[in-house]
Amino acid sequence: MGGVAIRLRAWSEASALDRALASAERDVASFEQAASVFRPDSFISQLNRAQGRALPASDQLVAIVSEAVRLAHESSGAFDPTVGPLVRLWRDAARAERVPTAPELAAARAHVGWQHVAVSPRPPTIALRGDAQLDLGAIAEGYLADRLAGLLRAEGIARARIDVGGDLLMFDDRVAKEPFRIGIRHPSAEGLLGELELDSGAVATSGCYERFAVVGGKPRCHVIDPRSGQPVEGTLSATVVAPSGIDADALATALLVLGAQPGLELVSRLPGIDALVVTRSPTGDGIVLAASAGLTARFTLRAKLP
Ligand code: AMP
Ligand code: MG
Repeated sequence: MGGVAIRLRAWSEASALDRALASAERDVASFEQAASVFRPDSFISQLNRAQGRALPASDQLVAIVSEAVRLAHESSGAFDPTVGPLVRLWRDAARAERVPTAPELAAARAHVGWQHVAVSPRPPTIALRGDAQLDLGAIAEGYLADRLAGLLRAEGIARARIDVGGDLLMFDDRVAKEPFRIGIRHPSAEGLLGELELDSGAVATSGCYERFAVVGGKPRCHVIDPRSGQPVEGTLSATVVAPSGIDADALATALLVLGAQPGLELVSRLPGIDALVVTRSPTGDGIVLAASAGLTARFTLRAKLP
């Protein structure tokens, strides 16, 4: 998927793993074919050119787009799969080493809004109203991790660790389970912030340490707050533990936007979800960790905090 590395570690017989890998390869290729915005012939690219018309869609796309809309609704629009025009505006401005103008921001914001996405299951169609553009980039990795877990389990593989571009999904269906240890990267220094111990589930981290660009003399986060049109500021990273990869992936992006307190409030309303949000300290020289109770219980701090 656009050059994302997929790493699998499975505890199984070699033949089961070979079969699972062959179907995984086909599955990833067909998803990319349908969902990539980098392919002009993909379903999503066609939808983005359809000017409001409803297009017949596969059940797979109806499922993932429905999930994207549900997660946008749940996060009050902090995660928004139609944020693309704002992402492009800030990316283009960064290339030109300037900040977008107010009219440019207003024009891009006019097209952003997950409410413009209309999904209908029977017959399966998707439509985008009001010139909206769909981009599944912020959930594709978590979604693929879920698909791969399903394929591995279908081959009878009982324990695996799946890593899609840094988004993790683990399962252990054996009677004698062994927990997985997951390193969480420090958002503003070398090395690990800490470690999580998990029996199963997905872990995704969104951070402003990746892919930022310098605009107007300061680094800007690649994640945009769809409500203001501005890049995220203050939150350094958000890690979410969830039963599914797609939830972990979308909610990590959402919590980066929401920040510590509203983010953890959201998580407390969602069963089975835990989170760790790292923010810059008010004095600017350190970091502050905020976590849900369920995450605190499984977290070991490895970094020295000032
Ligand atoms: P992630 O690394 O999973 O947080 O996804 C970040 C990518 O999603 C960015 O590179 C953008 O393409 C896109 N994106 C940026 N802001 C948002 C947002 N608020 N909601 C959904 N996708 C976003
Ligand atoms: Mg994400």
